[in-house]
This record gives sequence, C-alpha cells and structure tokens, in this order.
Amino acid sequence: MSALRYLFADHLSRGVSSLEGLDPARDVVLMTEVAAECTYVPHHPKKIAFLLSAMRHFAAELRAEGIRVDYVRLDEPGNTQSFAGEIRRAVVRHRPARIVVCEPGEWRVLEEVRSWEAALGVPVEIRPDRRFLCSTEAFRAWAQARRGLRMEPFYRWMRQRTGLLLTADGEPEGGRWNFDAENRERAPADLDFPRPARFAPDAITAEVLDLVRERFSGHFGELLPFGFAVTRTEALVALEHFLAHALPRFGPYQDAMRAGEPWLFHSGLSPYLNAGLLLPEEVCRRAEAEWRAGRVPLASAEGFIRQILGWREYVRGVYWLFMPDYARRNALGADRPLPSFYWTGRTEMACVRQAVEQTRQEALSHHIQRLMITGNLALLLGVRPAEVCDWYLAVYADAFEWVELPNTLGMALHADGGIMGSKPYAASGAYIDRMSDLCRGCRFDVREKNGPRACPFNYLYWDFLLTQRERLGRNPRLAQAYRTLDRFPAERIERIRADAARFRAEACGGATEVAVTRPPPGEPPPP
Ligand code: FAD
Ligand code: SF4
Repeated sequence: MSALRYLFADHLSRGVSSLEGLDPARDVVLMTEVAAECTYVPHHPKKIAFLLSAMRHFAAELRAEGIRVDYVRLDEPGNTQSFAGEIRRAVVRHRPARIVVCEPGEWRVLEEVRSWEAALGVPVEIRPDRRFLCSTEAFRAWAQARRGLRMEPFYRWMRQRTGLLLTADGEPEGGRWNFDAENRERAPADLDFPRPARFAPDAITAEVLDLVRERFSGHFGELLPFGFAVTRTEALVALEHFLAHALPRFGPYQDAMRAGEPWLFHSGLSPYLNAGLLLPEEVCRRAEAEWRAGRVPLASAEGFIRQILGWREYVRGVYWLFMPDYARRNALGADRPLPSFYWTGRTEMACVRQAVEQTRQEALSHHIQRLMITGNLALLLGVRPAEVCDWYLAVYADAFEWVELPNTLGMALHADGGIMGSKPYAASGAYIDRMSDLCRGCRFDVREKNGPRACPFNYLYWDFLLTQRERLGRNPRLAQAYRTLDRFPAERIERIRADAARFRAEACGGATEVAVTRPPPGEPPPP
C-alpha cells in the first residue's frame, strides 16, 4: 500500500490537503471514532452525534467515489479509543509506505501527530490546512510587521488580499471598511425571527444517536431533538436558507438578545464551517453575491463577512502564533472555581439561565450570549481561565480549541493580557438591558446598584475594576470608568465590595458539578 491518509473529525472536506493527490488504487483513507476525543472534556451529546454522523456520511461519500476507507467505529471490538492506538493498529493492518495528515486544529493533537514518525517507524507528512483564507505563515508574517495585533487592520488586509467587498479600484464598497456602528440595534418586540434549517435524522444518524445516548448521556446537554446538517449537501441547504431568510437583517441585530429566542438572525453555520462541510471562502463569496444582487444591505453582508474573513481567521492566527504558552495565560490572576450553575442552569439571573438552558438544548448560543453573559460573568467573578475554557470547549457544537481558546481566554476573559482586545469586555447589567428584553423576566432589578435585589452584574462590574486597579487602572480605554469610580463615596465602595463578596461566596463557593479542567499543555496530567 502506498499512503495511509488519516482524516480527523473536522477534516470533512473533499479538498482537504490530506486527500490531495490520493491514488484510489493504492491509498487508504483512515477515519477513527475514539472515546478519548469525546471525553477529554465532556463534550455535549449533540456535538458528538454531529461529528460522528458527519464522519460516517463523509466516509460513505468517499466510498461511493471508489476510495478505500478504513473506518473504525466507536463500538468496534478492539478499538483502543485513542488516536495513538488506532494509528498503530492501522499501520499493522496496512503497512503503508507513508502517512499523510492535514495539520489538526489543536496544538495537543499536532504534538501527538509529530511523535508518530518516531513511534511508528513510518514517514509522516503533515500538510498545512489550506481551507482557511490566511495560512498560519501569512498570519505570522503579518503579525511580525506590526506592534499591536488588532483584528480591524487584519480584516482590512484580508479584504485587500481576497478582493471581498472591494471596488474595482481596491476601495471598500460603500466607502467604509466597517459598518459596525449601524449594527448595534436592540430587536423591536414585533420582529419575527427565521428558524435555521433543520434536517431529519436518516438511518446513519439514527444509529449514531443510539450510540451516543448509550455512551454519553451523562454529559451536559440534550441529545434530542437533533437537526444538524451532517453532509455537505445539507450544509449548503442551511447556507442558502440563511442567506435568503436571515442575512438581510443580520447586520442591525447581530448584538441583540431576546428572551426565548436562540437564533435571532444568526446563521448557526459555525459547526459546519469548523467541521469542513462548508468552506469559509465560499460562504463569504455567497454573502457578497447576495449584496451585489441587491437582496441584502451592505451593512449586513459586511457584518457577516467580517465575522468569517476577519474574526474567524484572526483567532486562528492568534492561536497558532502563541500556543502552547497561550493556554497557560492568566493575566488578571483569576483563581476562583466555575460556578455550578454553568452546568445546572440553576440561577435566578434570567440572562445566565437562558444562555445555559439554550446551550443545553442546542449546543449553540450566539456571540453576545457567549461574550457578554457567560463570558462577562466569568470575567467579573474571576473564574480560572482554564476552567472557563474547558466549559466552552465542552458545551458548544462548534468548539475546537483553535477557535474556542482565543475567544474565551483572550476575548472574553482578557487573560492573554490584551493581545485580542485593548480592554476587557466587562459590562454592568445596563449593557444587557440595552441589548435585550431579558431583565424584564428577572428576579433581580437591573436599575438597582446594590443590595439583595440589585442585578449582580452591577456591583460585580465595579468590584472588578476596584480589584484590578493595579493591572487596569492606567488603561486609557478605562479612564472614564475609573474616574466615575473615584467619585463614588466610601460607603458605596463598601457596599459594592460586600455585595460582590457575598455573591462570589454563593456562586463560587461550592465545587463545580463536573470537574473538567485539564493540565495546561506541556504539563503532566494530575495523578
Ligand atoms: P454568526 O453570528 O452567524 O456568524 C457567522 C460566522 O462567523 C460563524 O458561524 C463563525 O464561523 C464566524 N464567527 C463569528 N464570530 C467569530 C469569532 N469571534 N471567532 C471565530 N469565528 C467567528 N466560535 C466557534 O466557531 N467555535 C467556538 O468554540 C467559539 N467559542 C467562543 C467562545 C466565546 C467566549 C466567544 C465570545 C465566542 C466564541 N465563538 C466560537 C465565536 C462565536 O460566538 C461563534 O462563532 C458564533 O456564535 C457561532 O454562531 P453562528 O454560526 O450563528 O454565528
Ligand atoms: Fe441579567 Fe441582571 Fe438583567 Fe437579571 S437584571 S437578566 S441578572 S442583566
């Protein structure tokens, strides 16, 4: 046999580099379902089912093309349940002249793949992941030419490199690079929201659902109803559905939240993009085409394209530039455990309850819920970054470390010391009230600043600034907030401190329901 081509669960694209040059007569594609990858954090059952079903469908498509696929199922006798064990068994079965892989999306797995050649005595070719619009080398070169690594200049550079939303003269369409200022509206009460496309499970998915129910029902999250796309064909339907029904109003309401409304005008496409069923460039080009055809306002098309061409590529660049050190960062010295209500949803804070419950049901929530509700609260409480990151990695169907870690540790927790953002995304309840109707259904009062009825975000916000004065007090973007704080009478400061201490003791006092924290990269697991 010539080459053994190992496909990971998020490499489900026909054009992935590990399949380039494949010789159907001599090569074998290896795909393995391993329990270790389902449990190193307790992944949401919907996420496990999505990936296993998408893998099985992809294997069937390759076979239909006449490609030989060696597919190891989770429940197959002899499955060692780890990448290392399965590649070793496959080498014995096939005796390949070489192993070909596309670089994995996680530093931990890349390190493991790098050890295979010595461990197995077979040459291992690790190819770059060419599905992204910016290679890790291009990002590194871009970063080296700059002092700060902000997303906005990166995004403009990417627009110029790709020509997306540019005039023939290379200028931004509409005369501006960014329409964010127009994209911060609160959703009016009478607005109807489209539902994302959902797909009935076929026989392959039904079998996977039984397997996941049997093995992983102890994990946080509801398995059913299951409606994710599990093939590229279905993912393309989901994309067209989004472009027709939600993209036209994506822009103005992209930061809005609404009680009982999980999607608003968001696409729900992140699991498909991250698993490889959709490619970022095709999604951006389709959104641009909708604007050029006059069916979508420029502010919506630009806002959506910025998320993928800008943020998605940028966080990947940050991840590979700073790993493995990045995962160990804790710039604000956060040292408290994750409150158990991140797993149970049992909290009187309506906004947090909704975000956790939606996550339990859907294995997805939108960006503002992740950043300004669960992320903001973990930041203000001072929860250990590693615990917060492992929660995000476990509970979302789109979570892979290359994208989850910079968003959580960097953007939400400011634990990277300011690589991702010039100031922490810390906010009081006023922000949540401005962007949503959630406070109306809450037992806390968002207008109250202190006391048992006050919205916890209000006193936690000021307490955070007080506690972090040494680290953040000279940040020019927080100067106004610190000036306001300095005008508070001593008695108010005392009440802020007392309320925050009481809330923290209640929220972070007990152990977390599910202990998920892994050792940082490069350190041995606990005994
Ligand atoms: P839309 O609002 O429709 O946006 C379109 C697409 O843009 C998304 O599908 C996604 O691919 C991309 N995108 C948008 N924002 C980001 C971003 N900040 N970083 C990377 N891509 C982005 N996204 C993940 O894909 N996986 C994660 O594990 C993840 N973890 C996050 C953790 C935190 C704390 C925060 C604040 C954000 C995280 N995000 C993550 C980014 C973002 O929240 C999700 O991409 C988005 O909510 C997915 O829903 P959607 O497809 O409806 O997005
Ligand atoms: Fe959240 Fe505070 Fe509003 Fe309640 S009052 S929903 S805790 S922001």
